[in-house]
Amino acid sequence: MSSPTRVLVLNSGSSSLKYQLLDMRDSSRLAVGLVERIGEQTSRLKHTHVTDGDTREQNGPIADHEAALKAVAGELSRDGLGLDSPELAAIGHRVVHGGMFFTEPTLVDDEVLTEIERLIPVAPLHNPANLTGLRTARSLRPDLPQVAVFDTAFHTTMPESAARYAIDPRIADRHRIRRYGFHGTSHAYVSRETARLLGKDPAEVNVIVLHLGNGASASAVEGGRCVDTSMGLTPLEGLVMGTRSGDLDPAVIFHLERVGGMSTDEIDTLLNKRSGLFGLCGDNDMREIRRRVDAGDEAAKLAFDIYIHRLKKYIGAYYAVLGRVDAVAFTAGVGENAAPVREAAVAGLEGLGLAVDAGLNAVRGDGPRLISPEDARVKVAVVPTDEELEIATQTYALVEKNSH
Ligand code: ADP
Repeated sequence: MSSPTRVLVLNSGSSSLKYQLLDMRDSSRLAVGLVERIGEQTSRLKHTHVTDGDTREQNGPIADHEAALKAVAGELSRDGLGLDSPELAAIGHRVVHGGMFFTEPTLVDDEVLTEIERLIPVAPLHNPANLTGLRTARSLRPDLPQVAVFDTAFHTTMPESAARYAIDPRIADRHRIRRYGFHGTSHAYVSRETARLLGKDPAEVNVIVLHLGNGASASAVEGGRCVDTSMGLTPLEGLVMGTRSGDLDPAVIFHLERVGGMSTDEIDTLLNKRSGLFGLCGDNDMREIRRRVDAGDEAAKLAFDIYIHRLKKYIGAYYAVLGRVDAVAFTAGVGENAAPVREAAVAGLEGLGLAVDAGLNAVRGDGPRLISPEDARVKVAVVPTDEELEIATQTYALVEKNSH
């Protein structure tokens, strides 16, 4: 029998489970879906059998991740794609925090689970949900390889000068405080795809990747290796995001506590959930913000300007970190769709060899494309990210390697 070629990718959030089943012979999707509001009365499973274009929905309480995964397995079985299929090669799991320990995709065993559990203090929101997904999938198919693909792994190549904060290293090490970075799967995929778009080997090119979704991060990638990224110990550092503040003077926190009378938890919620674009103008969707800017709304304009100012500072900073830049790549919901953001982010950077062609920037499309003028010294690109495909590719490569 030929070896199995399908990979199920699972992305478990605190109350959601996203999944995709891919066939790695041609990287095609066979099924995709999402379970939302797990643990509530109004849970919903939306499943699409891609081959048939058939979409089904289940509404009603789904108690926990185990029940969610069982419901997903049921839907896959209805399409003849069940977890018991001999064509399933592995399950690839997105795991947010791999600390310094996990530098590459890892076959999951009890020891790996223990280590992911030990990282919960630095990833209290994400790792518990990821662990639940891993444990549940293992209980359903104990014989199947389960691979953890870490959001932090791509950033473990950062030099100490970029990865450390300027605090006493003994205190930092005791509490595992360092800059880990996130969205690594996306930065890895997009930097490689950008090299491909330029017709070059990733080892030859230096790329600044701007992953601008609801969460947002920038990275400096030198010859395929990450040398700096904007998120730090947690995803709060760096760019202005949908609801996160990004960089601020840490003394703002003491001030809010001492003078503002806020508790640590209240400040945590303020900075992670009620700041960024949303905190500035009450909206975190870039489409709505642009609509308001065009209608002359001052708060939306200020939010947009702060967002762009920060982005520009990071482009400049990573230009300096890399010394030579071949391309700047925009990706994720905002980066792929919001032409005004791309235009504003590189406006005035002609001195650095950066420019956007207005005509090319306005063209909408699904594939990777260049939007800089033909003779530009530094290429500006839109490169759609595909984290599920990257997780599936890494998972399949590991399983294939182990089977030979
Ligand atoms: P995440 O994965 O971080 O939740 P995405 O990468 O899907 O986020 O990005 C979601 C964001 O992308 C939305 O909040 C919105 O601001 C932005 N977005 C999506 N489509 C468009 C569009 N057509 N124009 C401008 N912004 C868009």
